[in-house]
Amino acid sequence: MTTNRTFTMIKPDGVQNGHIGAILDHITKAGFRIVAMKYTSLTTTAAGKFYEVHKERPFYKDLVNYMSSGPIVAAILEKDNAVEDFRKIIGATDPSKADAGTIRALYAKSIEANAVHGSDSDENAAIEGNFYFSQLERY
Ligand code: UDP
Ligand code: MG
Repeated sequence: MTTNRTFTMIKPDGVQNGHIGAILDHITKAGFRIVAMKYTSLTTTAAGKFYEVHKERPFYKDLVNYMSSGPIVAAILEKDNAVEDFRKIIGATDPSKADAGTIRALYAKSIEANAVHGSDSDENAAIEGNFYFSQLERY
């Protein structure tokens, strides 16, 4: 199944460094519609669950601690070809390798504190969106 939705988070560094407004502006100017949005934070348990696919990776424990270190903004975004197009506008995981003008190149500080999350597939976009936004609500 393909959809035109993706899921994003502005990570703790993006919030802490005052980039919420600029990042949302970048996202909406790129043609994404915000379908749902929440300013919240993750417990270590919730962050561990969100990133469960990475649990065998060496960076997992640090990532979980980092992602629960401060507030985040979670959002569901809509656009044609949303997952792929959003990955393009955020840039590479490591901001030092991200193309100029991408969100991570502009606002991220390190491979861990890289400003934003973007889903990597339609299936994960749905799972991740449901993680934050009740499936009983309509978006
Ligand atoms: N990450 C990290 N070190 C690494 C690779 C990834 O700290 O060597 C963190 C980083 O915050 C990244 C997240 O783990 O965004 C998830 O990794 P993934 O490979 O899925 O990167 P993404 O899809 O976010 O570009
Ligand atoms: Mg990923």
